[in-house]
Amino acid sequence: MSRVFEILQPHSDDAWLSNSSIITSKNVTDVVTVCNEPERIAEDKRLYGDLGIQTRPLLKNAWYDKLLIDNKRKGNADEIERHVAELTTNNNGYRTLREIIIEYVAGIPSEKTLLAPLGVKHPFHFFVYDCVMEATPQCEVWYYRDFPHAYRAKSSADWLEKRTQTHKLLLQTEADTELVYRVMAKYYKTQGGFIRNEYHKILDNHTEEIYIQR
Ligand SMILES: [Zn+2]
Repeated sequence: MSRVFEILQPHSDDAWLSNSSIITSKNVTDVVTVCNEPERIAEDKRLYGDLGIQTRPLLKNAWYDKLLIDNKRKGNADEIERHVAELTTNNNGYRTLREIIIEYVAGIPSEKTLLAPLGVKHPFHFFVYDCVMEATPQCEVWYYRDFPHAYRAKSSADWLEKRTQTHKLLLQTEADTELVYRVMAKYYKTQGGFIRNEYHKILDNHTEEIYIQR
């Protein structure tokens, strides 16, 4: 496979959790993170430094995704749409996050393939997906199934079904879940709570999935 990938992740660790098989295939040049949470960006820098992959936050200044906190209240679809509307509102003449993401996507050179989140269930992942869909890229865009959000049977089935009306499955790879878990535990110390709560889910056999627009 001679394709060269750049991965856009809403939060630090999303790229690894959803795309470990592509990342370990050594065809990824860059991982770009929307949220700029300095202590988590430092974790990405250690992992991708060891893998020889460049990584950077999309935003110059520290920026935390407050929607994560709201998400803990288990937002329904309407609530998610409201969050998207809030984030889209122009803020005193500054460029909105939506504009920054759209500009970033448009600037990726045509010889690369962008891996962007499919945006299932998690409101901020959906926001990033929605921005990517609005952009006019020169490069091809593939969409990765968001782990763990898009793997929760209870809450994500409707979202995934809705998304597969516009996107079709392109690639399925058996995840090396032991490796995914070991890397999470070694590099993403700030996510200790998540790793402890979700270790069954992380170690569950599952396929990593890539979708393209129909
Ligand atoms: Zn995320």
